[in-house]
Amino acid sequence: MKLVYVDSNATTRVDDEVLEEMLPYFKEYYGNPSSIHTFGRQVATKLDLARERVASIIGADTSEIVFTSCGTESNNNAIHCSLEAHPERRHVVTTKVEHPAVLNVCKYFAKQGYEVTELSVNNDGMLDLDKLRDSIKDTTAIVSVMHANNETGVIFPIEEIGKIVKEKGALFHCDAVQAIGKIPINLKNSHVDLMSISGHKLHAPKGVGVLYIRKGVRIDPLLIGGHQEENRRSGTENVPYIIGLGKACELAEGFVKTEQTEVRRLRDKLEKGIKDKISNVVIIGENSDRLPNTSCVGFEYIEGEAILLLLDMVGIASSSGSACTTGSTEPSHVLQAMGVPPATSRGAIRFSLSKYNTDDEIDYILEKLGPIIKKLQDLSPLFDDSAKK
Ligand code: PLP
Repeated sequence: MKLVYVDSNATTRVDDEVLEEMLPYFKEYYGNPSSIHTFGRQVATKLDLARERVASIIGADTSEIVFTSCGTESNNNAIHCSLEAHPERRHVVTTKVEHPAVLNVCKYFAKQGYEVTELSVNNDGMLDLDKLRDSIKDTTAIVSVMHANNETGVIFPIEEIGKIVKEKGALFHCDAVQAIGKIPINLKNSHVDLMSISGHKLHAPKGVGVLYIRKGVRIDPLLIGGHQEENRRSGTENVPYIIGLGKACELAEGFVKTEQTEVRRLRDKLEKGIKDKISNVVIIGENSDRLPNTSCVGFEYIEGEAILLLLDMVGIASSSGSACTTGSTEPSHVLQAMGVPPATSRGAIRFSLSKYNTDDEIDYILEKLGPIIKKLQDLSPLFDDSAKK
């Protein structure tokens, strides 16, 4: 059976050059980078290079890069550590459309008695920046707003948001896990204090991430132990994976170019094909600035889970907008926050492409998708003639 992977916002295939660069660091160069002997030094040098590559792609200084185990850890660190470092400030501002790795951390702190403001978005998935400004108070420790949404691809204007947060004197954390490698990021003149990155969304392996901490920003570490990462994240560094992430960052300029041209062309072709061939579809977030690889499509009056399963049976791997990991068919919190009607959000499917997708694959999806949707619409008690557009 033909297999087509269009779930790259969940994870990406490791790039060949990335893997090649990692392999010697399992068997040939396996020293601990903190050791002062030759084995350690060989590895420490390469770790330095990885740090330079990451710093360079986001316009940061190497001293501002802290390696972590994943995007989730980076997000946890950013919020937890900022609150610990500023105990006099007990307010957090975030948005209703963040990834659970931010939202659930905020909910945890709400249970501990912190005040948490979750900002809503409009139908296009955009934030009201005046409301953001108004929400920040003297007691606000941190504002955590993502760069690009994992479900819809909608991009938030982090430059403008950063300016507002700075005016108000809070820390600004940005979850850039979905943005890195897809759109350019330059922190040089930005007001981002803390930024999260994850390796496996940009063709590096799973299990490695970065927390960017702007020079001068005071945060207390979450993991305490040895003195790795300048005392900001203890634990022996995951050397091969960090080297892989470093290589991916070196290649990221090329990745971004491909995303903006070839991947965008394929995504647009997919969306056009869907709109031409299938009735009762909505492209969610279509009017907003979006990641070039992401398409969140609401197929009205049918269940996303059913679409997913039927797509999977013909070898197409995508993802649904519902909280499928918990076995629930509740519409996703992101689509709910955007005010997408349940009849649309229940049938939402996310197609997220990468540089490995081809025209043939898009043609294959379009060929298979039409009959699957038609079959489900015919079976749906909600999809009667009056529902048809
Ligand atoms: N933030 C966003 C926006 C994500 O999409 C993800 C993963 O999907 C994460 C954070 C978590 O990253 P990780 O899987 O590396 O923990």
